[in-house]
Amino acid sequence: MIIEFDPLMTWLIVLGALVVLVAVFFLGRRTGAQRALSRVRQYAHPANLSDGEVDDSARYRAALIVNPTKTDVRRLASTAEAICRFEGWNPPLVIETTVDDSGEGATVRALDEGVDVVIAAGGDGTIRAVASALAGTSTPMGIVPLGTGNLLARNIDLVLDKTEWALRIALWGRNREIDVGTAKIAEDGDTHIFTVMTGLGFDAAVMADTSDELKSRLGWLAYVEAGSRKLAGKPSQVKVTFDDDYRISARVRSVLGGNCGRLQGGIQLLPQAVIDDGMLDVLIVSPKNLGQWLGVLASIAGRRVSRGLHTNTRKCQKVVIEAGEELDVQLDGDPLGQSSYLAMEVMPSALTVRVPTVEQRKQIRAEAWPV
Ligand SMILES: [Mg+2]
Repeated sequence: MIIEFDPLMTWLIVLGALVVLVAVFFLGRRTGAQRALSRVRQYAHPANLSDGEVDDSARYRAALIVNPTKTDVRRLASTAEAICRFEGWNPPLVIETTVDDSGEGATVRALDEGVDVVIAAGGDGTIRAVASALAGTSTPMGIVPLGTGNLLARNIDLVLDKTEWALRIALWGRNREIDVGTAKIAEDGDTHIFTVMTGLGFDAAVMADTSDELKSRLGWLAYVEAGSRKLAGKPSQVKVTFDDDYRISARVRSVLGGNCGRLQGGIQLLPQAVIDDGMLDVLIVSPKNLGQWLGVLASIAGRRVSRGLHTNTRKCQKVVIEAGEELDVQLDGDPLGQSSYLAMEVMPSALTVRVPTVEQRKQIRAEAWPV
């Protein structure tokens, strides 16, 4: 039997088939989208899973303090906004640092606004400025590491090159209390906060002599370049007083007070330093010539700094260094000028930082976040 279709019937069949194909295509896409959504929900925080209307004032809010010389602020702000929206937070308060305010004033403003976390996006200098305003408060600090050294981030095991993860850790990470150090370069002078290490002498002279331009081109190698030019300097006579009691007098190149001691490339400058033990680790470096510098470098490489060649360390809560001449001083890598006096003290558990939870660590390792 031969079935004859009239042209109208043929067109209707073709049209029907097209409708079915399009429907199958879109249903398939919806299923794909649902699959992606379920993956996203699997890694999301429970707080953003409620579908109902949430009062904005009940949502958390973050402040993002950004150093505009280290990144494209608009791009970082829009990434932060997207992540905050997705995680059920209010849009972040974004403030750029300036030459006059490297982050401390911005953080005070953010605290006045009542934010739940202040995220420092920049190098160790920006982090130090934000920490200066947060120390002694209960507001936690998140970190998006964008600097050359990123030493605090290294010492608390943050992810260094994943901005999205750094932001998520800032929002939903675990609170960890760490010590901070205070430093004064005059007995009645201002008190400065540091989170990693402060030093007088060689290390500070190197920091003061490393150009920002070379830092952005060579990274940490810029310090090596400046360091090699400073190696041949003369030692200085210093008197070091630990905890108002124990005193030593020596000819040294550098005295460092550290809250934590891990540097780039896994180098441990202060192997015994613990970031939350309520103690500072003081390192005295005293080589007299280039040959002895090799001993210092070998001691650092071999993590034998405490009983190393031409190095000595001691734990204390407070240290005062009086030098016979004006020497460079640096705080977390920022030059602070010259002084013949440096007093450092530890403020135990003064700063709360957001670090990855066990679950976040697993997800980062597995690269599980659906991007
Ligand atoms: Mg310590």
